[in-house]
Amino acid sequence: MNTGTLIVITGPSGVGKGTLVRLLTKKYPELYLSISATTRKPRPGEIEGKSYYFLDRLEFERMIAHDELLEYAEYAGNYYGTPKQKVQEQLQQGKSILLEIEVIGAGLVKQIFPEALRIFILPPDLKTLEQRLRNRGSEDEEDIKKRLERAIDELILSKEFEYELVNDDLEQSLASIEAIIFNKG
Ligand code: ADP
Ligand code: 5GP
Repeated sequence: MNTGTLIVITGPSGVGKGTLVRLLTKKYPELYLSISATTRKPRPGEIEGKSYYFLDRLEFERMIAHDELLEYAEYAGNYYGTPKQKVQEQLQQGKSILLEIEVIGAGLVKQIFPEALRIFILPPDLKTLEQRLRNRGSEDEEDIKKRLERAIDELILSKEFEYELVNDDLEQSLASIEAIIFNKG
């Protein structure tokens, strides 16, 4: 059977994953973006069922117990996970699906889908990562610190992924991801 490709975009918070994924799905509407479940509170402007499925811990733990998640991880005090059903449906229909997830979850995906194509997005340097997180302005100081501390552990793991990409110039990064996904160049 001709199954679709599972594409995983991972890397530390603030590196530009969400920005790159938004550009990609806009340019290639056929790329289906998986909507994750999380126990994090919605940020202003985030929409239930579009940005995330926002759950409380009990609801999330029910999904874990019922084996409804492809992978999940705890990140900065909250759960994040990929609902399994939609991913399986897409792949069975021969369609590609994009996951934008943190590094531990991206590691777990490989155990279930060894053929997954995983791209680790790196910042040009740690200072730039911190600036991007701060400029985004979506987290308080405590959360920014948690994310930066976690970034140090995450960056060490970048070599374990199929592709690494430094997100310096946005357009260039987008072109590199397109080349990987569509096997161009
Ligand atoms: P992530 O999803 O990895 O947490 P975001 O996509 O939210 O990161 O990006 C964090 C911030 O960095 C955003 O304000 C975004 O506009 C900015 N950003 C992303 N990529 C670049 C880039 N290549 N150059 C400069 N700023 C960028
Ligand atoms: P944020 O709170 O900034 O939206 O997300 C925090 C981190 O969780 C980001 O690195 C994001 O990629 C990751 N994340 C989002 N959804 C999932 C998911 O379903 N699984 C895992 N493991 N990580 C996720």
